[in-house]
Amino acid sequence: MEYGPAPEDASAVRDWLRERGSFGHFIAGRFTKAGETFASRDPSTGAELAQVTQGTARDVQKAVRAARRAQRGWGAMPGHDRARFLYAIARTIQKRERFLAVLETLDNGKPIRESRDIDLPLVVRHFYHHAGWAELAETEFPGHRPLGVCGQIIPWNFPLLMLAWKVAPALAAGNTVVLKPAELTPLTALAFAEICAHVGLPAGVVNIVTGDGQTGAALVQAPVDKIAFTGSTEVGRGIARATAGSGKRLALELGGKSPFVVMEDADLDAAVEGVVDSVWFNQGEVCCAGSRILVAESVAARFETLLRARMGRLRLGAPLDKSTDVGAIIDPVQKDRIVRILDRATAAGAELVGGAAAPGCFIAPGYLRNIAPANPGMIEEIFGPIATLSSFRTPDEAADLANNTRYGLAASVWSESATLATDMAARIRAGVVWVNCANLFDAAAPFGGMRDSGYGREGGREGVLDYLAAPVATQRDPAPSE
Ligand code: NAD
Repeated sequence: MEYGPAPEDASAVRDWLRERGSFGHFIAGRFTKAGETFASRDPSTGAELAQVTQGTARDVQKAVRAARRAQRGWGAMPGHDRARFLYAIARTIQKRERFLAVLETLDNGKPIRESRDIDLPLVVRHFYHHAGWAELAETEFPGHRPLGVCGQIIPWNFPLLMLAWKVAPALAAGNTVVLKPAELTPLTALAFAEICAHVGLPAGVVNIVTGDGQTGAALVQAPVDKIAFTGSTEVGRGIARATAGSGKRLALELGGKSPFVVMEDADLDAAVEGVVDSVWFNQGEVCCAGSRILVAESVAARFETLLRARMGRLRLGAPLDKSTDVGAIIDPVQKDRIVRILDRATAAGAELVGGAAAPGCFIAPGYLRNIAPANPGMIEEIFGPIATLSSFRTPDEAADLANNTRYGLAASVWSESATLATDMAARIRAGVVWVNCANLFDAAAPFGGMRDSGYGREGGREGVLDYLAAPVATQRDPAPSE
C-alpha cells in the first residue's frame, strides 16, 4: 500500500512510543512497572507499536482500592472545583489533538481525517460539556449522590471517544473510575493517563488497567458500584449474568444492525452521502452504522446507480494518508470474521457489489443486493464496510422491515417531508433516530440502545443521571414541638 503525497507526520508519536517502550498500568496517579506484556500493533502494517501490560485480578483490585480511597475526597469536592479539572483535561486534549489523532490512527487503523476531524473534536467537546455538568449537578439533581467507584470497559472502534463517553460523566458526578481499554487499542487511554497526571488530577480518580477480556472479567467481579460496558452483545450478556443480584449498577452499550430508510421523496444525493457517513465511515466498525439500507421501490434503481458511483470514488488506503476514506480493519481476526459473513451471505443467494478483501487488513467498501430477510448478511452485525440494500413498497412495509431485527440502537430516515419523516421515526424502535442525517453525535444528546443493543444512556442529562444515586426518601421532619 503506497502512502499518498501528504501523509500525516507521525514522528512525534513514534518518538513518544520509543521513549516509553512498554507500558504499565496507571494506578493511584502513577504508572506501575510493566508486568507480563503483549504487543499493540498498527493494523495497516502489522508493525508493533508498543508493549502493554496484561492486567491481573490483583492489578484490578489494586486499582479499585486506589479509586475507593480517592472517591471520598473527589465526591465531597465542590462541583466547581471538579469542573476545573475537567476543563483542564479538555483544554490539554485540545492542545494535543494532532498528537492524539495520529496515535489513534496508528493504533486503530482509522483514516487520519476521521480521527483528526471527528473523534478528537468530539472527545474535547465531551470533556468541556461535562465540566459544565460538574458545576450544575448539585443544583440540577439536589440530594443525588455519586455512585462511588465505576468499572468501565470499552471497545476498540472509537478508543478515546468511548473513554471520554465513560470517564467525563462519571467524574462530573463525583465518581472515580477504573477503566479497561480494549486490548487492541490501549494507547490513547495511556496517553490520556499522562494528561490526568499533567493537570494534577488527584491520584486515584482515574485508573487505567490494560489487558484482555480476562482483565475485563476481573473488573466485573471487583467491588465496584457500577459497571459501564460498551462492546459486543455476547460479552454484554455475560456481564449482565455475572452482576445479577450484586447490587452493581449496569449500563450496556452493545451491537446494532441499524436501518437506513430512504423514502420516495428523499433527496437521493444527500441520502447517498448519508450512507458514506453511516456505514463506510470508520470502515463500518460503528455500532450504530446504518447497515441495512431500505429504499422505496420507485426510486431504488436511481438510488443504486448514485450509490455505486459514489462508492467507486472512495479511496481505500493507508490510514495516515490524508486522502484516505476507508482505512484498515482492526485486525486479521475481525477481517476473517467479515469475510466469512460475506461468504455465507452470498452462499445464501445475495450478490456482493464491491467489498473485496485486499492484502493486509483491508476490505473495500461494498453492499449486498438481492438479499432475503433471512439471509445471515441481513441479520448479523457485519461490523465492516458492507451494507445491505433492499427495497419496500409502502411506509408500513418500511417500518416492518426496519424493526425486523433483535437490535435497537439507531436508525436514520430520509425524506423531504417533515411529517412523513417524523411519523416513520416514531415507528422505529431504536434509541436514536436521525432524520436526513446519520451518525451525528453531541455530548448534550443521550445515546444508547434498546432490546439486544443494551440499556443505559451516555451523554446529556440522562447520561449524568446514570452516574448518580437518587436521594434516599427523606423522612418527614419532626413537628417543631417534638
Ligand atoms: P468485545 O465485547 O469483544 O470487547 C469489548 C471490551 O470488553 C474489550 O475491552 C474486551 O477486552 C472486553 N471483554 C471481553 N470479554 C470480556 C469479559 N468476559 N468480561 C469483561 N470484559 C470483556 O467487543 P469488541 O469486539 O471489542 O467491539 C465490537 C462490538 O462493540 C460490536 O458488537 C459493536 O457493535 C459494539 N459497540 C457498541 C457501541 C455502543 O455504543 N452500543 C459502541 C461501540 C461498539
